[in-house]
Amino acid sequence: MRQTLRALAESDRPLSTASLETRVDLRRTRLEQMLKVLDVDGAVRRVRGGWTATGEPWTYDAERYAAVSAAREREQRAMLDYVSTDTCRMEFLRRQLDDPAAEPCGRCDVCTGQYWPTDVDTGRRQAAADHLDRPGTPLAPRRQWPSGMNTLGVSLSGKIPENLRAGEGRALGRLTDIGWGTELRRVFAEDAPDTPVDERLLQGVVRVLAAWGWENRPVGVVAMPSLSRPTLVGDLAARISELGRLAPLGSLSYRTPAGPGPRRHNSAMRLEQVYNALVVDPALADRVAELQRDTPGPILLVDDQTDTGWSLTVGAALLRKAGAPEVLPLTLSTTGG
Ligand SMILES: [Zn+2]
Repeated sequence: MRQTLRALAESDRPLSTASLETRVDLRRTRLEQMLKVLDVDGAVRRVRGGWTATGEPWTYDAERYAAVSAAREREQRAMLDYVSTDTCRMEFLRRQLDDPAAEPCGRCDVCTGQYWPTDVDTGRRQAAADHLDRPGTPLAPRRQWPSGMNTLGVSLSGKIPENLRAGEGRALGRLTDIGWGTELRRVFAEDAPDTPVDERLLQGVVRVLAAWGWENRPVGVVAMPSLSRPTLVGDLAARISELGRLAPLGSLSYRTPAGPGPRRHNSAMRLEQVYNALVVDPALADRVAELQRDTPGPILLVDDQTDTGWSLTVGAALLRKAGAPEVLPLTLSTTGG
C-alpha cells in the first residue's frame, strides 16, 4: 500500500492502473483492491486519467481491519447455520436482518417438511466426473500486449499480431488444484531440489498430450531456459520428445547469464523482463528452419511452470519469427485461472 501511495505522491500527474503496474509490482486485481481501500480511507482519489494522492496522511488501521474480518467470519458462520437450521429458514433470514417480527413462514422446507431429492442423475454425475478428470488445464494464449509498455522502454502495444501469437497450450495442473496440485506444490516448493521429472508427473503429461486434440500434430520440442530448475525443464523436454518421437530442438536462451532477473508478478514488469532477456540463438533458429523444411508442423514449447504467461508468449513469438507455423506451450503447472 505504501509503495502504491508513494508512486502516486511522487507523480506530478494522475496515474492509470496500467501505468501504476509499471511502478508497483502487484497483480492488477490486488492493485485495484488496494486503490479502493485507499480511496475509502481518503488517501487517494479517482480523477480524469487515473488516480492521484490526496496528500491526506494514511496509516494501516489494524484494529478496524480485524473488526471487518471478524464480521465476515460471523457472516460465513451464519451461512452454514442457515443450511443446517432446524427452524424456519425464512424466520432465520429475517432474524439475520434484525427483523423483530420474524416468525415461521409456513412455506419453506422446514415448515412444510417437504424435501427435494438430493440424489443426482447418474449420467450427469458421470459427465461432471469426466469433466473434472479430463487431463490438463488449457492455457489461453495472450492476445494483447499490456498497456503502458513504452514507460518501461519497450515498444509493444495493442494486439499481438496473429502471426506471432502462441496457440492454446496445456498445463498438467494448477498449483492450487487438489488433484495434481499437491505433487506440483512439492516440486515447486522453495527449498525443493532441481531433479529430473518425476515418473508419475511424466505419465500425467503423456495423458495430457494424448487428450490434447490438436489440429496438427507437433513435430518438434523446444525448452524454455530455466535458471532455477534447468534439470527439470531439460529432462521434461527430452522425455516428451523421446516418448512422442518429436525432434528435440534444444532450448531458447537468455541474452545474459543473469537471465530475466527476479520474477515479477504483474504483466507489464514481467513482459519487460522476458522481452529483454529471451533470445533464439542462431543454432536453434537453424534447427527450427531445417525441421520446418523437412516436416512442417507445430512446435511444443516446454516449461516447468507459468504464472503471467509472458515468458511463453515472448518465447512463442520468437519461435514463430524463426519459422514455426504454430507454437503450443506445455507446462507442468500454472498459477493462472
Ligand atoms: Zn418456514
